[in-house]
Amino acid sequence: MQNRREFFNSLLPLGDRKKEKFKPILRPPYHKDISLFLSQCPLCQTQACVTDCEEEIIVIQADKTPTLNFKDKGCTFCEACAKACELNVLDIDSGQEQINANFYIDSKRCIAHFGTICSACLEPCIDDAIIFNGMFNPVIDDNRCTGCGFCMSRCPSGAIFYKALD
Ligand code: SF4
Ligand code: SF4
Ligand code: SF4
Repeated sequence: MQNRREFFNSLLPLGDRKKEKFKPILRPPYHKDISLFLSQCPLCQTQACVTDCEEEIIVIQADKTPTLNFKDKGCTFCEACAKACELNVLDIDSGQEQINANFYIDSKRCIAHFGTICSACLEPCIDDAIIFNGMFNPVIDDNRCTGCGFCMSRCPSGAIFYKALD
């Protein structure tokens, strides 16, 4: 039996239905063709990207494709996952040295936005992508952010989020 969400989704035009089903996933860097995660990774015997990532941020999902976990750490762009990937899903020559996601600071959660002095997110951001507009208004500069994720775990109020784009 269809649930309410599925029922209303079935009333949408086909293009909108496809959009509804497509949920972007945070993927490791160094990929050129996003479709290879679904076509190749389930065939992978080694999952070497996981074992070779010294930051231990790559995890395999139920569909046997990799995603990233920024709960404690971030990506150093060390290339180890790309060097380890035997099926060329990840490839150093892809030129994709960034995580395809938009990071943002939720001003409703960020304590600096409420007047508390806090700059915990600044230090881990080696790309200088966190800009303070005055003392109490940090924002993330999309043009500088590589999506490394290191700022997330440092924020004491859990105010940093991302929207995956792939
Ligand atoms: S090593 Fe490559 S093919 Fe295997 S799971 Fe990781 S990205 Fe996919
Ligand atoms: S580039 Fe390095 S730190 Fe980043 S996901 Fe790959 S192995 Fe992990
Ligand atoms: S703002 Fe972007 S580049 Fe800076 S630490 Fe956060 S995710 Fe990394």
